[in-house]
Amino acid sequence: MKIMLDAGHGPNTSGKRTPDGKMKEFEFNEAVAQFVKKELTAFGVIVMNSHDRERDVPLKERTTLANKMGVDALISIHANAFGTTWNSASGIETFTYTKPSDLSIILATLIQNSLCSITGRSSRGVKKADFAVVRDTRMPAVLVECGFMTNKYEAILLQSTEYRMRCAKAIAFAILCWIDQKR
Ligand SMILES: [Zn+2]
Repeated sequence: MKIMLDAGHGPNTSGKRTPDGKMKEFEFNEAVAQFVKKELTAFGVIVMNSHDRERDVPLKERTTLANKMGVDALISIHANAFGTTWNSASGIETFTYTKPSDLSIILATLIQNSLCSITGRSSRGVKKADFAVVRDTRMPAVLVECGFMTNKYEAILLQSTEYRMRCAKAIAFAILCWIDQKR
């Protein structure tokens, strides 16, 4: 079983940070991806990354790599934003493509439920969107938003190692359940 983890954006992506500039979204995404990798590897799952700590990997390069490697699923990890200033939008949401496969919907639902129950954050539901990482990949693919950088409380959570590990455990648990269901 081969899983591709995609930490959204990159170390130099402009914008994509908390309103006070304390945290770049990529820091969160990449830290969670690392923890997920550790969890999955312990269960014998082969994990690959489509992102790079040193540079911003273009979306096309990420989806091309996933298709070329023939991974079984791609999970793109993000932190959300509503506008660029502090506001009350909050919670967790997971996206599939607008015309998702059944396996994508199952994976998204498992991740969404697992994340909400482990973190206790509110659920905004499983949604559909025309995002490149879920559109241009040939395998089940989902994009998860683990909380809002523009919400003062969630921004604090997103910066904590404890919350990042919690998110990672939830995502890894969901992927392992999905793998089991597929067998
Ligand atoms: Zn993002």
